[in-house]
Amino acid sequence: MELGLVAGHDYPDTYREFVEMFPDNTACEAYLMRIRWPKGFICPACKTCSTPWNESRGRIACPSCRHQTSISAGTIFDKTRTELTTWFEAAWHVTTAKNGMSAKTLERTLGVNYRVAWTMLQRFRVSMVNVERNALTGEVEVDETLVGGVQQGGKRGRGVSKSIVVIAVEIQQPKGFGRVRMRHVADASGASLLPFILDVVAPNAVVLTDGWGGYNCLFKHGYIHKINVLASSGDPAHVSMPGVHRVASLLKRWILGTHQGAIVPAHLQSYLEEFTFRFNRRTSNSRGLVFRRLLEQAVATKPVTETDVTHGYEWNIS
Ligand SMILES: [Zn+2]
Repeated sequence: MELGLVAGHDYPDTYREFVEMFPDNTACEAYLMRIRWPKGFICPACKTCSTPWNESRGRIACPSCRHQTSISAGTIFDKTRTELTTWFEAAWHVTTAKNGMSAKTLERTLGVNYRVAWTMLQRFRVSMVNVERNALTGEVEVDETLVGGVQQGGKRGRGVSKSIVVIAVEIQQPKGFGRVRMRHVADASGASLLPFILDVVAPNAVVLTDGWGGYNCLFKHGYIHKINVLASSGDPAHVSMPGVHRVASLLKRWILGTHQGAIVPAHLQSYLEEFTFRFNRRTSNSRGLVFRRLLEQAVATKPVTETDVTHGYEWNIS
């Protein structure tokens, strides 16, 4: 049996299995090695596939060209002073807790300082966006919503303004929702809304919007555009866009509940990425599999700088 392989699949199902699988940094390194190079180590210098020499502390060397690298180099774990066991524990809690965790809760749960907890969460959020690559298809509702309670530097309730988030939701027949995408936009102009739709909705999809002018000319881009005139008439219940309405209320509840509304606009997009990652995996039977997916993304994502962590990640979304 391969080291750490539990019950025939390479991820833990329960916290007990998690603890058994990852007792120390060596076990975490071996796991990252398996998921980063599932078909064997490929040397970044000479591209030879081989079994690398193990040096100390996660360092590895290519037997062909002697190039030295590390398992975490070029990933979100690059140059971290935080132990891999702590990163793994954070990934476990983020993916298995029903509503995720705030940096404050993670700080208490792991017994690390707030900065470490915040940094890990931000880096994981950046890696989450990379999972969401396949365009939405079928019938897709698109609408903007105002996310309030987002701080503008001051205390809650003072200087608080709302941020515009545009949401796209797949509508399933006869009922239910598929996947979502969302983006924090500067305004509700066509110049802000159209690039989002082009990025996240497949051509030939049916796009349902209200009568807002920002959504004009969708048909020019190969979409079947259905306009719900009722929604633009100021319908307060907003039932004409049930998908977006439902997702928006879950998003707002999550921001106010799990995160206590303490989100600055510069970081709003990263929270939207986490919400999207969670929402699109809400029906997954195995939280352990979601944990593994997050780590797979983490080793496939380029390092995130301290500036990104502090001032907000530069999302190159398109
Ligand atoms: Zn090499």
